[in-house]
Amino acid sequence: MRWQGRRESSNVEDRRGRPTGLVLGGGAGLVVLVIALLMGADPRALLQQMQTLDTSTPAAQAPDPAQDELAKFSSVILAETEDVWHQEFARMGREYVEPHLVLFTDRVESACGMAGAAMGPFYCPQDSRLYLDLAFFDVMRGRLGAPGDFAQAYVIAHEVGHHVQNLLGISEQVQAMRGRVSESEYNQLSVRLELQADFLAGVWAHHTRRLQGMLEAGDIEEALNAAAAIGDDRLQHQSQGVVVPDAFTHGTSEQRVRWFRRGLETGDVSQGDTFTARAL
Ligand SMILES: [Zn+2]
Repeated sequence: MRWQGRRESSNVEDRRGRPTGLVLGGGAGLVVLVIALLMGADPRALLQQMQTLDTSTPAAQAPDPAQDELAKFSSVILAETEDVWHQEFARMGREYVEPHLVLFTDRVESACGMAGAAMGPFYCPQDSRLYLDLAFFDVMRGRLGAPGDFAQAYVIAHEVGHHVQNLLGISEQVQAMRGRVSESEYNQLSVRLELQADFLAGVWAHHTRRLQGMLEAGDIEEALNAAAAIGDDRLQHQSQGVVVPDAFTHGTSEQRVRWFRRGLETGDVSQGDTFTARAL
């Protein structure tokens, strides 16, 4: 991809290198202040002390500079999704609300709970944020055999797809079925939700392809390869050696490729109803 020099999103929160990805200082400092005041300390002296404390508290670990290029790349891709989805939502007579992208290292606190890098990138509907540990791109390149920058862009576009589903109220409808249908039926709905996010990533790729000059030969193949590589059947094969269809939550490699391709070819959001589709 030719992505250098393009607009970066202003919605990236870089929490790399922070313990559990939390913003410390403010909250912890406040607790110290309240306790000290209760014990009758002089607030001015305390505030001064806290300021020196704050600046002298070292970051747990400096962010990996080798990842800075990837961080910039992710920010450009996020900006590209903003452009496309503003346009597509306007076409639907709706307003697109941009999500935030949180970059983290190892562990992160989200409104959906504490998450580790092992679970891969995810979207949390409660705080409208995408969470990404850039080390996942190494895993894709290495263990999953899905190299390439457009493969990485596809992963971000898939998570943005979940945000689009959230804005359109689709995720909520699926969530509401939890407990009302059997577990295997609920898993089926989750698969359809995931395949739709792949479809939406394809829709994004369709419109990005139209924006001159960004894609290079082989880019689309990278994304298709990634869609295949991170299908649940592949992942389960690698981790357990057996495929257990009932536990699928993302769809098979073949299904993921098919829905991504449909989005890519049509560029039309209305073509992505995975919920009424008979064949996935
Ligand atoms: Zn997903």
